[in-house]
Amino acid sequence: MAFEMVGACPRCGKDTSVEIGESLLKIGRTREQPVRIASCGNCGLIFYEKIDKIKEF
Ligand SMILES: [Zn+2]
Repeated sequence: MAFEMVGACPRCGKDTSVEIGESLLKIGRTREQPVRIASCGNCGLIFYEKIDKIKEF
């Protein structure tokens, strides 16, 4: 697989979405949330999926 699988599409619910990139969403003034940018292979919806860090201190 060339793409890492991400979660199901929030619109059509199909599990055909693929990661097309990563970005940082600004939350408030100082915080940033790393997200995956994913594209649904079924309906073409572009959506963000939160990346949870494994460890956070
Ligand atoms: Zn979809």
